[in-house]
Amino acid sequence: MSSPGPVDRGRLFDRINWALDNRWLSNGGPLALEFEGRIAELAGVRNCVSACNATVGLQLLCQAAELTGEVIMPSLTFVATAHAVRWIGLDPVFVDIDPLTGQVDPACVAEAIGPRTSAILAVHLWGRACPAEELEKIAAAHGLPLFFDSAHAIGCTAGGRPIGGFGTAEVFSFHATKVVNGFEGGAIVTDDDAFAQRLRSLQNFGIGLPPGGSPAGGTNGKMSEASAAMALTSLDAFEQAVECNRANFETYLTELAATPGIFVMPHDRRESNNYQYLIVELDEDLTGLGRDLLIELLRAENVVAKPYFSPACHQLEPYASRQPVRLPHTERLASRVLALPTGSSVSRESIRRICDVIRLAVAKGPEVTARRQKG
Ligand SMILES: *Cc1c(COP(=O)(O)O)cnc(C)c1O
Repeated sequence: MSSPGPVDRGRLFDRINWALDNRWLSNGGPLALEFEGRIAELAGVRNCVSACNATVGLQLLCQAAELTGEVIMPSLTFVATAHAVRWIGLDPVFVDIDPLTGQVDPACVAEAIGPRTSAILAVHLWGRACPAEELEKIAAAHGLPLFFDSAHAIGCTAGGRPIGGFGTAEVFSFHATKVVNGFEGGAIVTDDDAFAQRLRSLQNFGIGLPPGGSPAGGTNGKMSEASAAMALTSLDAFEQAVECNRANFETYLTELAATPGIFVMPHDRRESNNYQYLIVELDEDLTGLGRDLLIELLRAENVVAKPYFSPACHQLEPYASRQPVRLPHTERLASRVLALPTGSSVSRESIRRICDVIRLAVAKGPEVTARRQKG
């Protein structure tokens, strides 16, 4: 995960003061509209509908498309992907991943399609592109809408195309922990004008829906001007944040290159990426050290490493007991990955120190593990 960079408070407070002077604090205000314009341009799409967060953004998608029954999705994702769908009474159907990339496996998606399937919800995990074009073919062949949880993937590309323009619509998150943040925030991007219009009505209590409305009624999912002020200010610093994350990635790569059993998840150099997640995979067979123990050792050194994303969604309630399923590649990778600190507050020096701790822990893996087992 990347820690939020320093905020240009002058710019933020100027924008908030401007909004207060303008006396327009929500309901599609000028700052929210400006933010939407900039996100649409970055994502290369015709429409952007800002939202209070990505979770509600995902729910708006489902309601706008009037989904029922099941939604197919990968299990290796943040639990919000599944909960967003479950909260509105749909059933997530979890599928396995490509063991090398961690991205959803299109063959598994195709296999999972059944009579109750109403959509595919793919995830661009860790900002790397999932096989979006293959998924588009599968969705088209079955007449299913295809959506993307692109919470990690602002400013990234898939096959050289900006993420945001795949499927029917994609959703970005601008939560405080993401590389661009509006305190809380989200955005739905789509090239379908009518769908965008429908999303706008649904997120504003259903106001303006065509006769007949929506079976879901409507909700309040709008982005406030205060959030938009923050999101715009954060977006101003996006390129700088990416550059910082990219440099951090290179440092980790160099520092850990010669350590057997620890593998920095690569980036496809032909694609644009925001590098906001620094993911490493730990091979316990080679190191004699488990992932959770490594996280503990890092915590003891004041390094916040997180098991992103473990347990996987299908291993969590309410899914684990309701619909038990085995996803071997997901389970294996989920038990081996961890996210290390990156972002503009993480210096090269601190990365070297973090990697020193990792190298030492890995070098003494069996010893550390034995000591732990003795308690
Ligand atoms: C952060 C995140 C979300 C939720 O975003 P919010 O804006 O916090 O609602 C959804 N999916 C994934 C993959 C995420 O990482």
